[in-house]
Amino acid sequence: MSDLDQHLAHQLADVQQRIARAAQAAGRDPHTVMLLAVSKTFPADAVRAAHAAGQRAFGENYVQESLDKIDTLADLRASLEWHFIGPLQSNKTRPVAEHFDWVHSVDRLKIAQRLSEQRPDHLPPLNVCLQINVSGEASKSGVAIAEAAQIAQQIAALPKLKLRGLMSIPEPADDLAAQRAPHRALRELFERLRADGLALDTLSMGMSADLEAAVLEGATIVRVGTAIFGARDYSH
Ligand SMILES: *Cc1c(COP(=O)(O)O)cnc(C)c1O
Repeated sequence: MSDLDQHLAHQLADVQQRIARAAQAAGRDPHTVMLLAVSKTFPADAVRAAHAAGQRAFGENYVQESLDKIDTLADLRASLEWHFIGPLQSNKTRPVAEHFDWVHSVDRLKIAQRLSEQRPDHLPPLNVCLQINVSGEASKSGVAIAEAAQIAQQIAALPKLKLRGLMSIPEPADDLAAQRAPHRALRELFERLRADGLALDTLSMGMSADLEAAVLEGATIVRVGTAIFGARDYSH
């Protein structure tokens, strides 16, 4: 094993242990929480090393960077799951529909319609989450809680998408109670939509700093970058 392989195996084990402890505290089976390793800004070699340690699902934010990485790692494609989690402009939906397994950041109907139209027929439906603005600020991306039910029903009807659930990126908060509040709001919305008849199974919430709070509130996917790969360098 290379140094990078060993380092990433260690970081991944640490994060898995944090997830397991939080799940146990919540009386949940740790296997019901999937770790999405957020590899944005990190090179293909880092993804390869994490894969060697058993990690299978990776999250990316930037279209061009992720396409390069997916291409470089084509030999591993059958055992990798690629999740797009960044802001998505409508003129960039096609490569995402063609190359990803999941999109967590659907925040308007038009994006969902384009992804459905552009999803190639030979691929299974694209798994999507509706991004919700749980902090309620106009500047933040995501659908308002009050509008979520209508948009979710419209997305669920699109032929080449499978609406799996909800995603959010709350404002950072320091203490556990403040971290839990927006995650709880997302879970309550999720439960209302399920009661309305939508077959949702995914709550994508929690990052390096607040994954325990998210798991305590029912997260089924936590999206973790820094705690696995280290601090991001945006200078090049
Ligand atoms: C970058 C990013 C993450 C990971 O954040 P960390 O704090 O590094 O764990 C998770 N979700 C989204 C949407 C991101 O953009």
